[in-house]
Amino acid sequence: MKKAILSALFVGALFFSCSKDDSENVATVEYSFDTDANSGLMFKDGDAVATMTSEAMRFDIGKVLRVKAINETTIEVANFAPVDIEDATILVTIEGQPKPIKLFKIKKIRAHGVKEIKYPFVEKTTNFFDTENAEVSLSQYRTTGIATTKVTFDFTGETELIQKLKLAAKLKWKVKPHDFDPTHDPNNNWKDNVTAADFRRYIGFIINNAYLMQTEEAKNAFLEEPIYGNDGVTLMTLEEKKVAFQKFIDITNINGGVVVNVSGLGGGATFGVANHVLHDYLTKDPCFITIHEMGHMIGYNHDSSMTYPKKIDNVDRGATVAIGKIYTQLLKSDAFPIKVKNYYMPSDLLL
Ligand SMILES: [Zn+2]
Repeated sequence: MKKAILSALFVGALFFSCSKDDSENVATVEYSFDTDANSGLMFKDGDAVATMTSEAMRFDIGKVLRVKAINETTIEVANFAPVDIEDATILVTIEGQPKPIKLFKIKKIRAHGVKEIKYPFVEKTTNFFDTENAEVSLSQYRTTGIATTKVTFDFTGETELIQKLKLAAKLKWKVKPHDFDPTHDPNNNWKDNVTAADFRRYIGFIINNAYLMQTEEAKNAFLEEPIYGNDGVTLMTLEEKKVAFQKFIDITNINGGVVVNVSGLGGGATFGVANHVLHDYLTKDPCFITIHEMGHMIGYNHDSSMTYPKKIDNVDRGATVAIGKIYTQLLKSDAFPIKVKNYYMPSDLLL
């Protein structure tokens, strides 16, 4: 008798902890943010520069599909990528809950789409799955919501695009469009009137740059390359190159802007590139400029071949050359997440 009860309990426990997506109690809510009726757009032509460049526009490079809490009951869903994203699952980690929870699905969010919604447990179901498909009730938050400081969000999904976008989570970059010339000073190298199109293109550019830098190929090419340090005469050791490459990965804030007269400007959090770079990055290797500027951002000068290549046996060598070759390969194999064929605003590609 005792044994029978025990085994019944055991079966019950198993059943409960192994509930799958077909559970009768849980139907994951699905949204689309793909039309003017169900979502707004960021980086629209004519949007105020102050809005586009505000600190609120900073996003983690590994979370280009960004969800953030507006208040206890409302969240904002925003796609920073200039491409549509389909079949994403939004995960929420709630302080006090042991595992991330599948909050809702997104059938489609259009490029640069943005929308505020109530948490599904406020307006819709309170039954959810966690990331191991165990059922979780969030009914305790239905009326109170959750303090904004107690939640973090992420996205996931099986599509090739989502898988590629998520690879950038290796990097610590937190990117924001930036206006470096709010007073329109004609005597500096920053574009006087930055536009929404500039930022749409810059974000695509920085996403592909992140994809490049997370590849093992870029890292290996860099580590195998002879590169001179800041004294201009001593080749960096493998250890020094490992440290330098990790510094690329560990860059935190990136303030993205557009330069004129020069091709790029980089240092600290500043990462500016010229219009021709924003025009070319989907079809040509920009590393001569981009790795050069990122070299400055992690502390290398013009004597080092982290910025300008140097000839060794009459051949240009250095960081820009080594990583540039990988960029070209990735273009050839159509590997980048942002491409000519999925970029949402074809007219931007002609600017
Ligand atoms: Zn330079």
